[in-house]
Amino acid sequence: MRLIIMGPPGAGKGTQAARIAERYSIPAISTGDIFRRNLAEGTPLGQQAKTYMDAGEYVPDEVTNAMVADRLAQPDARAGWLLDGYPRTLAQVDALDTILADASIGLDAVLELVVDAEVVVDRLLKRAEIEGRADDNAETIRRRMEVYTTETAPLTRAYAARGVLTKVDGLGDIDEVTDRIFDALPG
Ligand code: AMP
Repeated sequence: MRLIIMGPPGAGKGTQAARIAERYSIPAISTGDIFRRNLAEGTPLGQQAKTYMDAGEYVPDEVTNAMVADRLAQPDARAGWLLDGYPRTLAQVDALDTILADASIGLDAVLELVVDAEVVVDRLLKRAEIEGRADDNAETIRRRMEVYTTETAPLTRAYAARGVLTKVDGLGDIDEVTDRIFDALPG
C-alpha cells in the first residue's frame, strides 16, 4: 500500500497517519518529523532546514526531494509507505513520480483531510502550548496556512485529475475521522 495524506497544518495528519500506518503495517514517513529530528540532532540537514521551518516557509525542493528519495530507499519502505507532509509542491510531485516510475510502482490513494481554516489555527495554537513547537506561534501559523494555500492546495487538484484523490471530512472526534478514513481507503 502506497499512500499520501494531505491537508493544511493542524488538520490532524500526524495523528491519523500513525493509525493508517498501523492498519496497513507500513511506515508513516513525515518529512516534518525527519526535519525536526535532524534539527534536534544538529545535523547539517537540520541546520539547512532550520531557517525555513522557523519562518513557516518550505525547505527547498532539492533538499527535501533528496531526503525523501533516501528514506524511500530504506528496507522498511519496500513493501509500502504512507507519506505525511510530502509532496507539498508541484516539483515534489514530479520528484515522487520519478521515484515511482523508476521502481515501477504506483500510488494507491491520496487522502485529503478537509478542515475549516479557523478550526485548524485554533488547534495549532493549542498544540503550541502543549508541545512547544518553535513554528507553532501565531505569525508562523498564518504564514504556514498561506504557503499551504498557494503551494500545496493545487496538488489536490492534480491528484484529483488523476483519479487517485479521496477527500475525507477531517472535523470532529479523532476516532470518527479515523473511521471515515478507513471506510474511504481500499481494503
Ligand atoms: P510539518 O510538521 O509537516 O507541518 O512540517 C513542518 C515544517 O517542515 C514545514 O513548515 C516546512 O518548513 C518543513 N517541511 C516539512 N515537509 C516539507 C516538504 N515536503 N517540503 C518543504 N518543507 C517541508
